[in-house]
Formats: sequence, C-alpha cells, structure tokens
Amino acid sequence: MKYLALGCSHGKIPKIKTKDFDSILYLGDSAGYQKARTLVNKWLKEVYNHGSSITFEQFVGRRIYSNLQKKEIENARKVIEYINSLNKKVYTLPGNWDYYKDRFHKYKKNYYKKVIIKNLSNVKDLHLKYTENKDHVIIGYGISTNSEIKTPFQYNYYFKRLKRLFIKAKKKKKPVIFITHNQPYNTRFSRIRDKSSPVNGMEGGSNVAKDIIKKFKPLLCIGAHMHEHFGKIKVGKTTCISAGYGMKGDKVLIDAGEKINSIKFIRK
Ligand SMILES: [Zn+2]
Repeated sequence: MKYLALGCSHGKIPKIKTKDFDSILYLGDSAGYQKARTLVNKWLKEVYNHGSSITFEQFVGRRIYSNLQKKEIENARKVIEYINSLNKKVYTLPGNWDYYKDRFHKYKKNYYKKVIIKNLSNVKDLHLKYTENKDHVIIGYGISTNSEIKTPFQYNYYFKRLKRLFIKAKKKKKPVIFITHNQPYNTRFSRIRDKSSPVNGMEGGSNVAKDIIKKFKPLLCIGAHMHEHFGKIKVGKTTCISAGYGMKGDKVLIDAGEKINSIKFIRK
C-alpha cells in the first residue's frame, strides 16, 4: 500500500501534486489559524510563566473568542472536506487543535465528530480505534499533547484502550501502522523547538505512544504535532516518522507491505 501522510494543516488546504498513493493518513490539527496561534501562545504564557488560571475566553474577551471559534471551525472543515474530495480512504484522528475542550471549553467533547468530520464518506476517525486494509492494521491515538504522566488516570485509560486494540491486531497477522497525533516521549521528535512558544525547550512527547511502541513493535508509527521535526527515527524495531508541518507544505509518501519499501519526505 502507498500512503500519503500529513497533518497540522492548521486551516490551510494542502497542495497535493502527486496521485501516486492509495490512502491518506491525516494526523490531525486541521483547525487553527495564525491569529488563533498568536493569541493561544500569549494565553499560554500567562498560564505557564505567570501561573494564571485565566481561561482562553476570559483572556481574549467574548467577541474575539466567538469569532475565533467560527473561523477555526470553518477552516478545519474546509481542510477535511478537501482531503475527503480526493476520493481516497482517509484514516485520521483529532489533533489537539481539533479538540475544542482546551480553548473552547463550552463545546461538547464529540464536537470533532459532529461537525468537523461529519458526513464525509472517505474519512475514517481512528482515535482509539482499529481498522484494516489488505496489507495493514491501522490503529490511532489522537488529541494527546503532553506526556500524560501528571495524570495517571489519563495514561492508564489511553494505554489500556490501545493495548486492547493491539492485542486484537496480533490475531490478524498483518503489520500494524500506528498513527498518533503526538510524538513518542523522549525521542528526537518530542522536544519542543519553537522560540515563539512559551513551552520552548520542554519535553512534550507522549508516554502512551512510546510505551505502546516498545510493547507491541508496530511496523510504523506516524505522528505530527511537533511542527519543527520532519524525518524518521527508530524506536526499538519501529520506524517512527514525524510528518512535519502540513501548513508549510510538509508531507510524506510511504510505500509499505510486510516491510517498509520506501519513505519519501516532501517539502512544499
Ligand atoms: Zn499542529
């Protein structure tokens, strides 16, 4: 199977020049746009650097807040509609920007499903889910934006759910592709290298993703989230790919069957 992997479009419709792929692995974060990012960074600075407990709505004010919501949702929907229109199967999951609980806390949890990816026939949400095609089992883990260790409940919940899916996958005797929004913890891809971010230099990877990879050794792990990292590394036996920053044009073509045949990184 040939896959086109990309994520973190953040409101920008991707330019896809090649048709030489069977399916798309869309790694989340279709939502968000530049104004929102600037404001979120300022808000996070208050929260992280000054210990404030102000909500995003209080920080930006009600009018800007509701405009941002509207714009972000429109943008996210445009990106996913475009990806759906390519007439390929789209395996996807919500990124942290598609999960409105953090910033737009009044939204219901399932907003992603009820609005962003609603009624798009090619799009398959794989967050904590499992699917298979002729060559692979694909398992997804979305949303995660941190190491999960400060909240053991969160770690245990996600790890157990994924573990169940990986055990089920073993019976299929097909290689597993693990798609995750975040990157595995404490790897070359997991440290934040973004000077504009209030959390620059911090470790931001996922322990759940890392521990699942170590335990079940999927053929591939493909993530996004850390826009500054674009490339591949090995974590144990697993080849891990960071799909970079979709908004700037990063994407990856992967040809894999029982083994990985080729990986091509495309900028622009
Ligand atoms: Zn992103």
